[in-house]
Amino acid sequence: MVAPIVLKPRWIWTGTELLTGRCLELRDGVVGAIVAAEAHPGVPEAPGRLVLPGFVDAHSHAFQRAFRGHVQWRPADRDDFWSWRDRMYATANGLAPEGVQAVSALTFLEMAEAGVTTVGEFHYLHHAPDGTRYDDPDELALRVLAAAAQVGIRIVLLRVAYARAGAGLAPRDDQRRFYDRRPDDVLDALTRLGKDARVGLAAHSVRALDGDWLRELSAWRGVVHAHVSEQPAENEACLREHGEGPLRVLARAGLVSDRFTAVHLTHPLAGDVDLLAEAGGAIAVCPSTELDLGDGFLPVDARTRARLCVGSDSHAAIDPLGEVRTLELHGRALAGRRNVLAPPGERHGLAARLLRACTLEGDLALGGMGKGIAAGEPADLVVLDLDRPAADGVPPLEAAVFDGGPGWVDEVWVGGRCLVAGGRHLAREQVRRAAAPFLG
Ligand SMILES: [Zn+2]
Repeated sequence: MVAPIVLKPRWIWTGTELLTGRCLELRDGVVGAIVAAEAHPGVPEAPGRLVLPGFVDAHSHAFQRAFRGHVQWRPADRDDFWSWRDRMYATANGLAPEGVQAVSALTFLEMAEAGVTTVGEFHYLHHAPDGTRYDDPDELALRVLAAAAQVGIRIVLLRVAYARAGAGLAPRDDQRRFYDRRPDDVLDALTRLGKDARVGLAAHSVRALDGDWLRELSAWRGVVHAHVSEQPAENEACLREHGEGPLRVLARAGLVSDRFTAVHLTHPLAGDVDLLAEAGGAIAVCPSTELDLGDGFLPVDARTRARLCVGSDSHAAIDPLGEVRTLELHGRALAGRRNVLAPPGERHGLAARLLRACTLEGDLALGGMGKGIAAGEPADLVVLDLDRPAADGVPPLEAAVFDGGPGWVDEVWVGGRCLVAGGRHLAREQVRRAAAPFLG
C-alpha cells in the first residue's frame, strides 16, 4: 500500500472540534484517518500550524477582479451601487473569452492563496457583447470552469438566468451579454454543463426575472442562489410590481427551500430572515463588497437562525477570514454591543461559528455535505501559520478569526493535492502573466 501523506500540525479544527496531538493521514485524495501524533514518530510537528477545512467562497463574479482599484475615485456627484454597476458593465463588455478565462484564473489563484478550496461562481456572462451567441453557447461558462481547473480549486458554476433590465423594462444594450430568451435556455445549459461539472441555478434577482420566469425556473432540483434585497430601490420596485418583497416573491415561485441561498439580504423586509430559516435556506453575506459599494449591511445577532456563509462577490478584496470577521464586527457596530453572533456562554463558540460560515456552511450552500475534516471526506484543507507574534498567547481559533488573513496561509490542499506551499501557488507567475493584459 502506498504510504499516506502525513500532516502533523499543532492543532486541527475539524469543523466541530479542536484537536491537539493528532496527525492527519491523506490517502487517494481523501482524509484517510486522524491518528495520534505518536503514530508517526518520524514526522516533526509543524510549529504553530492550524489545519482547518478549506475555505468556501460562496459568491463570486470572477471577472470583476479586472477593475479592482480602478473605481476607488468619484467620477461625478453620484457614486453608489448603480453608478458602480455602469462601470462594471463596461469591464464586462470589454472582455473577450480569453480575457474572461485569464482574469478568472487570477481571481481563483488569489482565492487559493487566501485558503479557498471551493468557489461558487455566480456566472452571468454568456454571450458576445452584442448578444450574439457563441458557436458553443456555453463558451464563457467553460472558460470559467477551465480557469478553476488551471488553478486546481473546486468550482460550482451557478449559471445565471437574466431576462430584463427591471420591471417592465426592455433589455439594455450593455446587458446583452447576460440575457437568455426563455427559461428553458437556462435549464438546458444547466443540463449540458452539469454533465461534467458541479452546477447550480442562479436566479439573478427579482429585478432581472419576472414571476413567470421564476416559476418556470423552479423546476430545477439542485442548489439555487439569488441576489436578494441588496438595495432599497430593489425592494421598492418589487413591492410596486408584486405587492410583496423579493424573498417572498421568490418563495411564492417555489424557489426558496433548503437548497436556496439568498445573496446579500442587506435590506431584509420584516420576517424575511425567519422565512429563510424556516425553509432551511442560507444567506451568503459579502461584507467587503457590501462595504465597498455602500450597500448597507445585514443586521445579524444571536437570534439570526438562518445559516450564514460568505462570498467575496466583486473581489474588492479576497480574504475569507476578513469576511467573517467583518460580519461579526459590523453586527456589533449596528447593535452597539459585543459578540453579537456568539452562542451565549460557549467559550470558543463565536470563533467556531464564524469559521463554520467560511467553511462548512459555504460547502452546504453549494450542495456539499458540509462534513469538514473527517475520515473519508475529500482532503480539502487550509494550513494557517500561527507561529507569529500576532498570535502569541491567543487561542488558535480566535487568532485565526480576529487577526488572521491571506498572509497567514501556509499551505492549501485540494483533494489531497498541495496547491499552495509557503503561501505561494505553484502556478502563480504563469497565471499572473496571462491575466496582466486584461486588467485595469
Ligand atoms: Zn453578486
